[in-house]
Amino acid sequence: MTVLFRPFVVPVTAFPRTNKGGIVHLRNRGEHGASRLIAIQCVTLHTAAPLDSMMIDMPNHWREELRLFLGTVLIAVLAGVLTGKLLPCLLLGLLMYLGWHLYQLARLTHLLGQDRLEMPQSQGLWKGIVLEIQRLQASYDRRNRELSNQVERFRDTVNSLPDAVVILDPTGLIDWSNPAATGLLGISWPEAQGRLLTALAPDPLLGDYLAGADFSTPVIITSPSNRAKILSIYVAPLRHEANRLLLVARDITRQYYLDAARRDFVANVSHELRTPLTVISGLAEQLNTDQPDLATLPRSTELMHQQARRMNELVSDLLTLSRLEMQPQSATDEHVPVAELLTTIVEEARTLSGTAQHVLQLDIRSPAGLRGNAKELHTAFSNLVTNAIRHTPDQAEVRILWQVDHAGAHLSVTDTGRGIAARHIPRLTERLYRVDASHSRDTGGTGLGLAIVKHALERHEAELEIISKVGGGSTFSCHFPPERVVS
Ligand code: ADP
Repeated sequence: MTVLFRPFVVPVTAFPRTNKGGIVHLRNRGEHGASRLIAIQCVTLHTAAPLDSMMIDMPNHWREELRLFLGTVLIAVLAGVLTGKLLPCLLLGLLMYLGWHLYQLARLTHLLGQDRLEMPQSQGLWKGIVLEIQRLQASYDRRNRELSNQVERFRDTVNSLPDAVVILDPTGLIDWSNPAATGLLGISWPEAQGRLLTALAPDPLLGDYLAGADFSTPVIITSPSNRAKILSIYVAPLRHEANRLLLVARDITRQYYLDAARRDFVANVSHELRTPLTVISGLAEQLNTDQPDLATLPRSTELMHQQARRMNELVSDLLTLSRLEMQPQSATDEHVPVAELLTTIVEEARTLSGTAQHVLQLDIRSPAGLRGNAKELHTAFSNLVTNAIRHTPDQAEVRILWQVDHAGAHLSVTDTGRGIAARHIPRLTERLYRVDASHSRDTGGTGLGLAIVKHALERHEAELEIISKVGGGSTFSCHFPPERVVS
């Protein structure tokens, strides 16, 4: 008994139950006359290689084909010997063999016109051909699936972008746009398809930019759908279709205003420094003569000293502010005994008040302290108390109150000074913002104090509250969250 064990691939359709391609193992269990007992073992190819990557065993099909041909010839010869008409029988056998091939060819031609190729009853070489075509079909399907997955992924990515993406045809008509283009450029897909971009986003700068065809630098425009937004627009020709343009619009509002604030700040600081420098150099010129006016000498040196002090204060405040802005979140997190800290600040304030003799009232209602940076808290509280003294008439009262409740800890500095008009209050913490610049300078202010307070408080998750009334004094309060309170 010969045992044959040869796997070969059969198409999906041969396994309606499993609906998967499989390997069929044929075992020749012996011969019972002409018929063979065949055991079929099906192994699904889920974990094995897919059909398209399997090797089709063509030499085996050729052998099967040869067996078919020889079988036909043998039967024809036998029939010829039995009937005594060998040649006609042989001719008939060959004609039948040829006819069967023509039939298979016709069937294949017909089936090729259909979506799926299914020829379950093919044999010999035809089986090999069908399997080969099915393998190619599976490979084509797989590639198609991969391609559509990639397209889907790409579309998903572009649709999730916060930037607006628009594709323009050579005449400037909109070919495609992503959802972000609706919010930034007012272009909603698919309604905008085929419409002129410059008609939907009528900005002269954008029109000139597209007409100029020099896209080496982006153009900055105001968003046509939201005037509060500033957009930076980049345009690039598509790589494989150079006459189509890819337009990307990015919201740079925050960056734009930050840059503007930075520019203003540099200009303001330069201006602040130039004034004392001009005074000092003017006085130095007067003193640098052969016969300096000795009568004005003390006054001149006093003025020079005053201006140098002003510059020193400004530079020192600038350094404090930049340190607060640059450093990561509060580096130290120590226990700050607020009662002690306020006592020191009040003593310093008394010295500052000097002959002005402000009445400083320190009201400590809780022994609780704060978790934070003692130096930063000292700077913040001291700035508020100093401001109160500088903006309050001589001998007037300044009250400092420290209390803790369920909402957290609160420090308030209340003065009885001239107060601040409501329109100035939201801008007081801006760098170099002053209500009355000359009064601020005369009293030694730099215009940076409240900006420093705001930054120092932010680093302690605290908020600054300003309540003021013209002629009715002001209260500056710092509110700390309960997590910052240390009993
Ligand atoms: P400055 O060094 O000029 O005081 P700040 O940033 O500390 O700068 O304050 C900004 C402006 O806020 C001041 O110029 C002043 O006009 C106003 N201001 C601050 N504190 C008070 C206060 N207690 N009373 C009235 N005005 C105040």
